[in-house]
Amino acid sequence: MENERLDNLVTLSREFGREDRGWAILGEGNTSTLSGKGTYYVKASGSRLGEASREDFTEVNLKKALEYVAQSSLSDEQVIHALESIKIDPMAKLPSVETFVHAVCLSEGNCEWVGHGHPESVLSILCSEMGAKPYMEHIFPDVVVVCGRHFAVVPYVDPGFKLAQAVSDSLSKFKNDHSCAPKIIFLENHGPFILGQSHTDVINTMQMLDKWSKILITNHTLGGPRYLPEHESNRIEERLDEAYRRKRILESSE
Ligand SMILES: [Zn+2]
Repeated sequence: MENERLDNLVTLSREFGREDRGWAILGEGNTSTLSGKGTYYVKASGSRLGEASREDFTEVNLKKALEYVAQSSLSDEQVIHALESIKIDPMAKLPSVETFVHAVCLSEGNCEWVGHGHPESVLSILCSEMGAKPYMEHIFPDVVVVCGRHFAVVPYVDPGFKLAQAVSDSLSKFKNDHSCAPKIIFLENHGPFILGQSHTDVINTMQMLDKWSKILITNHTLGGPRYLPEHESNRIEERLDEAYRRKRILESSE
């Protein structure tokens, strides 16, 4: 079971790091999954997603990671010490700088799998003057089905420890407003975090987000997007046949 999880994490990572997709190059991006025993696996710092193997993931203590996030501030040296001290195997590689963000997503995001990348298409929008605004309304139904109706947004924050605190604040506000967790957290001037129930759920969501972003960019060369009326987006979210289709998409790609 545990080995299967780790193998699926490798699969997710390699999909995220595929060169033809442009979602993450070099050491960009990171992925994680819960282990089911109070720990989670997260990509090691500097490892390439596209060439990931089991050895590129470090098992860390979830509760200890969250205790660090609850502290008011940590120096750069204290962050390195914290990352070392939460490892289960002291000989394992240093976990990613975003290990604390993954801890927050896995404990507060109602998900078991997390993927983060820097896709060219998504960053073209998140690094523009518009930031995450183009994503706040919908332009076609399948995005609602695969990615969800609403999304969390975090303005640019120093990656790592401070970002984890900002993501935690953003998730609690989102859950308060919508009574559920988002499937995508847009980090402006940085990239998206995808929260999923399975490794394929994370891949599907990123794939649809990538397509959506490319279409939005093209829309802006053709007079701007024509957004769906709000009630139509809500209707897609609530339709029983779309709920069925959403379930089938998840099952068929498992
Ligand atoms: Zn990043």
